[in-house]
Amino acid sequence: MSETIFGKIIRGEIPANIVYEDDLCLAFKDVAPQAPTHILVIPKKPITSIDGADDEDQSILGHLLLTVKKVASQANLTNGYRVVINNGNDGGQTVNHLHLHILGDRQMKWPPG
Ligand code: AMP
Repeated sequence: MSETIFGKIIRGEIPANIVYEDDLCLAFKDVAPQAPTHILVIPKKPITSIDGADDEDQSILGHLLLTVKKVASQANLTNGYRVVINNGNDGGQTVNHLHLHILGDRQMKWPPG
């Protein structure tokens, strides 16, 4: 299991506001929300990033996206939402455990910063 803060959340070593869990992934509220609704979806498998994913991770990657849809529906984001994956340094990734941001309940802008 990865030694990131998200690994600790998966193992229950630090608290998180968990909104969804199944055998493959976990979704919890971001501690520093960038939108009125800001939820992170992570695999329980310690995949570091998109770059760190292998061909064998194909089904878990699909599962994460379908979980985003489920969690967004549960959060009532009926007017739309943004899904973000930061990858590596230039991508702004700060936690080296793959995570999908769900941002909603405000109008998003393009291009992102
Ligand atoms: P990123 O910059 O894409 O790596 O995103 C990491 C995200 O994790 C940031 O939005 C942080 O606010 C969030 N974060 C860091 N620690 C925690 C934590 N203990 N619980 C919930 N979210 C966290």
